[in-house]
Amino acid sequence: MGALFGNYARRPIALVKGQGTHVWDEDGKEYLDFTSGIAVLSLGHAHPALVDAITQQANTIWHTSNLFASPGQEALAQKLVADTHLAHAFFCNSGAEANEAAIKMARKHTGKHHIITFEKSFHGRTFGAMSATGQDKVQQGFGPLVSQFTHLPYNDVEALKATADDSVAAIMLEVIQGEGGLAQITPEFADAIMELCNEKGILLIVDEVQTGIGRTGTRYAFEQTSLKPHLVSLAKGLGGGYPIGGLLGVADIYDTFSAGSHGTTFGGNPLGVSVAQTVLQHVFDEAFLADVQAKGTYLQQTLAKALPADTFSILGQGLMVGIHCGGEEVAHYIPKLEEAGVLLVAAGPYVLRVLPPLTVTTAEIDEAVACIAAVLTASHVS
Ligand SMILES: *Cc1c(COP(=O)(O)O)cnc(C)c1O
Repeated sequence: MGALFGNYARRPIALVKGQGTHVWDEDGKEYLDFTSGIAVLSLGHAHPALVDAITQQANTIWHTSNLFASPGQEALAQKLVADTHLAHAFFCNSGAEANEAAIKMARKHTGKHHIITFEKSFHGRTFGAMSATGQDKVQQGFGPLVSQFTHLPYNDVEALKATADDSVAAIMLEVIQGEGGLAQITPEFADAIMELCNEKGILLIVDEVQTGIGRTGTRYAFEQTSLKPHLVSLAKGLGGGYPIGGLLGVADIYDTFSAGSHGTTFGGNPLGVSVAQTVLQHVFDEAFLADVQAKGTYLQQTLAKALPADTFSILGQGLMVGIHCGGEEVAHYIPKLEEAGVLLVAAGPYVLRVLPPLTVTTAEIDEAVACIAAVLTASHVS
């Protein structure tokens, strides 16, 4: 037992160096990092442009607080909402905080408290975000939770129609359930949500903490659906490894966050803003996003070819990919994959997530898929 609390089931590898898609542990063993620090390292490890941005900013000014004007935050906000139906942004430090802000905004704006979220969703570990999360294991032992969250089955139009009445402030969802097993919203469900939101004055919160910033091949995953969220939460990929979160919202809700109503000391600090601006310079580029789509398709097809289709199925969108292993629990694969030199992370008990940096090369995809296929076919318990 060490000096740290035991709240993480850590792998016993200490990673001490990274470059692009590659990382090295203390003993010098090299791995392909297909976790990207859980969908965080959008431009991979030690990207020169990000290293330059943070170094330059650190040498200039690295904290001011939100007592003062922030042209950097303004520019970042403009870049995030440009060419969307969204209009404003608020910056914080994590995904949970972005969702917390969304929940507060929805309550204050509508004057209602009831929020619908979905089974197997994940929205974070703070009280509001934890209460929104549709997983018992996240909430166990921490009650009483924040009241008036209803967790409905995902993609169940009838259940939604039966619950979404005038008492509902917001519906909150992930377009692809990142921690819950990579379930993806159906077009019918997205259409039903939009209809109910329009009819009953319900706000739509899309949690893009994992799916956002190019991960699925578009800037935001909602762009590939009929969803037009009033609020969009961001974090993970936004800072490329520097902790920054954000909440985007439509023009109508501007007045709800009046001066003094919400805030954070560190949120949108100059280091995070300068790194995020640099991430967006790369990722919010049509050619870059087209490349993510092409590599995503390539990754999914290569996995599908390399793995027996009667046991393994491939899920996901863009470079947010999952391998469902025929209902078998997947935790035992992770150390075997490490041994073979590939790092993956699970999504729930039954799905392995394949989340390379968005800058991954096809040669790296080939190498990782060969390793993954060898390990999975050799140690599959049928
Ligand atoms: C990771 C994640 C969160 C929580 O983000 P933190 O930065 O860990 O607080 C919330 N929602 C989704 C969809 C996530 O994947």
